[in-house]
Formats: sequence, C-alpha cells, structure tokens
Amino acid sequence: MHEWALAEALISTVIQVSKKEGLRKIFEIEVRIGELQDIDLEIFKFALIQLRPDYLKDAEFKFKIVKTKLKCRICGHEWSPRKDELDESVREAIHFIPEITHAYLRCPRCGSIDFDIIEGRGVWLEYVRGK
Ligand SMILES: [Zn+2]
Repeated sequence: MHEWALAEALISTVIQVSKKEGLRKIFEIEVRIGELQDIDLEIFKFALIQLRPDYLKDAEFKFKIVKTKLKCRICGHEWSPRKDELDESVREAIHFIPEITHAYLRCPRCGSIDFDIIEGRGVWLEYVRGK
C-alpha cells in the first residue's frame, strides 16, 4: 500500500510549503504523477482525503499524469514511447527495475538501447494555491 506512504509524504510537503508561504487557507493543490509510477489513483485520492488536516478540507486536489520522456545517449533524440509499448506488465517491470526499460524500448532514430528516462517517474507537488 505505498499509495498511503506517498499521500503522507505529499501532505507533509503541502504543510511545509503552506507554512513557508504563510498560507492559512488552501484552495488548490496540483500533484504530478509520472506515467511510469505504479500508483492506484483512487487509493491515492482516498488516502489524501483521509490524511489531510482540517485546514485542507476545502482544498481541491488536481492530478496530472506526466508522459514518459526518454533521451537517447547516443544520438540525443528525445521521444515518448507509445501507450501500447508501455502495457501494464512493462510498466510494472519498469517500476521495480527501471533498467528493464532497455529490454523493451529502443531509440526510434538510431536503434540504440542506451537512453535515459528523463520524465515519467515519481510523484511530486507542482504547486499549492491559497492565501
Ligand atoms: Zn538514438
């Protein structure tokens, strides 16, 4: 149930940010989730609602899924794999062993399997709006 751990971490980040910015009322919180991040959004949303403190009761959580972006180390080409190249079993494998991506994907320009995952992993707080 790592959704709960992620939700807890996110809430504590929101609290830190709102303290730092002197916000007492929060309207909107945007969360970005990498496409490769293995997460059940429904559980994650539920966990956030359960864990949020009172002053976040009226805040709206917005979620954006960030597409995977890869960059070839050989020719520098950047691309996003197609959805059908990232079926569930591939995403799951990538989640546990990121290096495994190289077994499934290759650079569409030069055919290299030597590339970096530059976007598409992790969960982070994009912004907090309030006053
Ligand atoms: Zn390439």
